[in-house]
Amino acid sequence: MGNEDDMTIKLYEDNPYLVENKAIVVSNENGIIVLDRTPFFAKGGGQEAEGGFIDEYEVGAVYEKDGIVYHECVSDLKVNQEVTCKINFEKRYDHMQQHTGEHILSGVVENKYGYKNVGFHIAEHSMRVDYNGYLNEEQLLAVEKKANDVIRQNIAIYQGYPDGDDARLEGFRFKKEIEGDIRIVDIEGVDCCACCGTHLKSTAEVGMIKIISSTKYKNGVRLNVLCGDRALDYYNVILKQSNVLSQLLSSNILELADGVNQLTQKKILLEKEVSSLKEELLYFKVKELVKSQEEAIFSFENIDNKSLKKMSLMLREHCDKDIFLFSELDGRLSYIFLSNSRNLQELNEEFKRDFGAKGGGSTKSVSGSVVSDVDTITKWMHDRIYKSHVT
Ligand SMILES: [Zn+2]
Repeated sequence: MGNEDDMTIKLYEDNPYLVENKAIVVSNENGIIVLDRTPFFAKGGGQEAEGGFIDEYEVGAVYEKDGIVYHECVSDLKVNQEVTCKINFEKRYDHMQQHTGEHILSGVVENKYGYKNVGFHIAEHSMRVDYNGYLNEEQLLAVEKKANDVIRQNIAIYQGYPDGDDARLEGFRFKKEIEGDIRIVDIEGVDCCACCGTHLKSTAEVGMIKIISSTKYKNGVRLNVLCGDRALDYYNVILKQSNVLSQLLSSNILELADGVNQLTQKKILLEKEVSSLKEELLYFKVKELVKSQEEAIFSFENIDNKSLKKMSLMLREHCDKDIFLFSELDGRLSYIFLSNSRNLQELNEEFKRDFGAKGGGSTKSVSGSVVSDVDTITKWMHDRIYKSHVT
């Protein structure tokens, strides 16, 4: 894996945190390079490779198989050629902060609650950690506090291959059985774990551990955690949004929830008011139209059944003509017919037969719904009403 201490940080104008490391090409076949030693991290143990360059050639995936690290890198590099490897140290350091943060958190969880880390992955913007026991909100706050205490204690971190009689080889944390030499990452008094990942020199370098969210997962819990600069970046994004919300709501930044709650309540009241005004408006509109027509066939859009019913009752109070109301809502037409003079049950049977309408009622009032369009229905209705008047 290469020794991180051998690396020198060199500043480049286009990519300021490239770490340089010399190596010799052992093989180069079909765009896959093997080096005699490598600073590149091979994907594994929940940690991704960082990418980088071998001389001027870009490195893609880096993976290990049977102890050999393979670099995807299309180039014309020759065997035995000395090359300069450059890794993106900014990304490496971010991974170190996340991974060490995970070890601290997992050590605290195991010491405090006895739950084991059973899953872990560092993605580009988030880190997922799974434990085999559930932790409630209060317990998570306690874990987070303790983990941040560990950071402040500035505990030196050991990473390496201890001798056979080293106490670190007793009772270390591991996810799967390992053969051969065991690489141990030890944060004394907090966590001792078999791990191939890259880690910081001291817990202080993690800076901060913040649990962003938790969900029940299998019999335990899945956490989304941010460490170090990621936690700070996240804080800045939230702060920026909160400042905008604070201005929009004219609310103190620490009282945004109250502000949104008030806004929601206002919205509910306004919606009620709008709905009642709409009803009133429709009623007057219909009343005006009724005055000028012998029979009243009216079609509307987006009036729900409840409002349509209310409207029909209001109209009945002020008008003794026959009333035919339709409202188009979500692809269906709701209808209500009211009459003092004709047998509506007969009309409704005809309507149901011709249009497959569903509904019923009395001789003076029927209601229901039908899948059809307003124009066809209105024409049909006019024909029936006209016919009945002639006969
Ligand atoms: Zn690890």
